[in-house]
Amino acid sequence: MIRRRKTPLIRVGSVGIGSRAEIAIQSMTKVSTTDVGRCVRQIRRLVAAGCHLVRLAVPTKADSAAFGRIVQKVDVPLIADIHFSPARAIEAIEAGAAKIRLNPGNIKKRADILRIIDCAAAHSIAVRVGVNEASIRDLKGPSIPEKRRVSLMVKEMTRYVRLFERAGFTSLVLSAKSADTLRTIQVNRAIAEAFDYPIHLGLTHAGLPEDAKVPSSVAIGCLLAEGIGDTIRVSLAGDPVREVRLGREILKSLGMIRDLSPELIVCPTCGRCKVEVVALAKKVKQVLKGIDKPVRVAVMGCIVNGPGEAADADLAICALKGKGFIYKHGRKKAVVAEEKLLDTLADELKKL
Ligand code: SF4
Repeated sequence: MIRRRKTPLIRVGSVGIGSRAEIAIQSMTKVSTTDVGRCVRQIRRLVAAGCHLVRLAVPTKADSAAFGRIVQKVDVPLIADIHFSPARAIEAIEAGAAKIRLNPGNIKKRADILRIIDCAAAHSIAVRVGVNEASIRDLKGPSIPEKRRVSLMVKEMTRYVRLFERAGFTSLVLSAKSADTLRTIQVNRAIAEAFDYPIHLGLTHAGLPEDAKVPSSVAIGCLLAEGIGDTIRVSLAGDPVREVRLGREILKSLGMIRDLSPELIVCPTCGRCKVEVVALAKKVKQVLKGIDKPVRVAVMGCIVNGPGEAADADLAICALKGKGFIYKHGRKKAVVAEEKLLDTLADELKKL
């Protein structure tokens, strides 16, 4: 069991962010906010995939107006992504944002930040205060030592947090982002040490899914395993549903999500294997489709290590040439011909 770092519960519409709530999965729409129909369709797909909070870019006055129309059409709490413009922040809050994402570093006047804080307080919404490595002036250039980068980001965050606190505003979620995996881990550890607020985890720059999924999984997974992080967003270029799926996978692999879908374990295969394990695993995956129980099924390529490796599974197939052994909760149940393996597995699944 992962012991989560204690953080207060911050309300974002119907969703709570904090250690007493489940880790909230976020994503962002990838179409213009002014295209209300497409945005709403994308938000509904995200929610169906398991997304708890959706963020939308609000760069223009037309986007704020569209944001307000979208809020009326969906049930999920929406977050307005604000850069540079205090006017957009206030319009989005008044249009029904459940939270705004703000990088105070790119709002020039302190008075404007205070106006946004007042408006957020008046509407009882949360603010995600972000520090982005790329936007800190003193961090430009490759020669700055690692330690200094992290300490400058924490210093910047401290400045922002104190500004909000002095204004009496504490419905904060903090995020410190970098494109570097290790630095993301280090800076979030430091932020978790310095503040009690909930933390939003993620790497700052999206990559193509095949390039970005490992750095994101490592950074987010490592911090979550240490108990740090209350909400996550995996940034991937392209369809945002993939971000949600990967976010769920990360949480599932750490046992941090209630998941009713079956889990399929497949041996990596080696020289002992005499059957097409991958092809067999794909067929087993089809058998598992539509099952809404958290059963664990293993497909192994031999009986030398297979039964031992599959001992944790509810059901396991250890495949040999022309036949296979079916194991149930680590005990041998049957030896069946290759062509009957899938039917036997399906029968055993029903009994479970
Ligand atoms: S289960 Fe057997 S075939 Fe698969 S990796 Fe282990 S030893 Fe190799």
